[in-house]
Amino acid sequence: MTLKEIENFGIIGAGGAGFPTHAKLNSKPDTIIMNAAECEPLLHKDMTLILHHSDEILEGFKTVMEITGAKQGIIGIKNKHAEEIELLNSKVSGNIKIIEVEDVYPAGDEVTLIYMTTKRIVPPGGLPISVGCVVQNVETLFNIGMNKPVIEKFISVAGAVEEPATIKVPVGITYAEVLSHFNITVSNYVIRSGGLMMGILEDDLNKVISKRTGALIVLPEDHHCVTMYKRFPNEHATDIIAKAACDQCSYCTEFCPRYLLGQPVRPEIAMRNRMFSREEQPMLSVGNLSCCECNLCTMYSCPEGLDPRGATVIEKRLAREQNLKWSGDDITVHPMYEYRKVPTQKLMQRLDVLSFKDEGPYKELNIYPKVVRIPLDQHVGAPAQPVVKDGDLVRKYNLIAKASGKISSNVHASINGVVEKVTTKEIMIYKTE
Ligand code: SF4
Ligand code: SF4
Repeated sequence: MTLKEIENFGIIGAGGAGFPTHAKLNSKPDTIIMNAAECEPLLHKDMTLILHHSDEILEGFKTVMEITGAKQGIIGIKNKHAEEIELLNSKVSGNIKIIEVEDVYPAGDEVTLIYMTTKRIVPPGGLPISVGCVVQNVETLFNIGMNKPVIEKFISVAGAVEEPATIKVPVGITYAEVLSHFNITVSNYVIRSGGLMMGILEDDLNKVISKRTGALIVLPEDHHCVTMYKRFPNEHATDIIAKAACDQCSYCTEFCPRYLLGQPVRPEIAMRNRMFSREEQPMLSVGNLSCCECNLCTMYSCPEGLDPRGATVIEKRLAREQNLKWSGDDITVHPMYEYRKVPTQKLMQRLDVLSFKDEGPYKELNIYPKVVRIPLDQHVGAPAQPVVKDGDLVRKYNLIAKASGKISSNVHASINGVVEKVTTKEIMIYKTE
């Protein structure tokens, strides 16, 4: 497959980032890293994909290496996945190697994985390419290996369900229709889409699966995580609570994975800035631009149950609005880096999710929705522009919306049907056969 085909097929970062892949691959790295360090608790999608589709994934991996001219390929995978490692080991050789990493959170963060697998440190504000690396998610490589437009998504369904599973669904299907195939074990629940740590809390089951959705986690309405997510519904709440309750203990910073890699991220300073400045005249620390929003500080580190992540996100927004950039000295890894990694089991205990089944075998559900609503803004960048109109007949894989800029992505029909409605946000298709 060529870079142009990757662009035409609407392939974007399937790990949740949604960055158009053709734009990311338009570079000259010496190393491609397969991000197989799936680190969100309860997610098993990437490992299941490796077990069932390793040939397609490795085909995509080799294609990316050829396109970019990278000299080496690294598969970064957690050492606990013995079966997947053995399978991959039987299929790779030469300039592709497997590097096992510890089962810690957030091993799947690009900057963290690059350090764990190459010992290179991405400078503050820099991209992986600044240290010669491009990182690609397992499912993104699978999509490249499939050599056709992306119209389906693999997701983990987990949490309060009888049988957690990894399933494949058409893009544009509603959460409600997906969940109707599962036995939910509680009556009142909410959904965390994407992941417990970095996902979004959803109570509208009419929302649809996009090319970026990695998981639907069902959580009882009164679950600890839900209480935490709901405590800080907006910036104002984060700001007020920071002013009232942060005791500046610095645990949030001391466990921050980016801080420990030498990045100038200081969530406790972000909290202090909220404490001592007014909303209309905020102070900020530019180094917090390097926060990866992993949520460890809020969901794990802070003993007071505050929202340091929210405070750093406020600072990121303010810094971007003022076009500020970090300028500082070279960075080095913190001497305590090795000792302060957070094991996934410990995190799961803190999140109170150890009672949920931690598995996600592949389940063939053969879901054929009568209607799909395909979003035009599934990717980072400008929304795609529709090229169909109400009443048009479309078939699976047909282009229905075209990328509208360098950072944008094509969108294709995920079912055979008739276009029912085109809006600025989505295209609704009714099944005809
Ligand atoms: S936000 Fe929490 S962890 Fe961070 S300094 Fe304040 S009290 Fe301590
Ligand atoms: S969310 Fe918190 S722990 Fe994660 S990188 Fe940002 S400041 Fe650090």
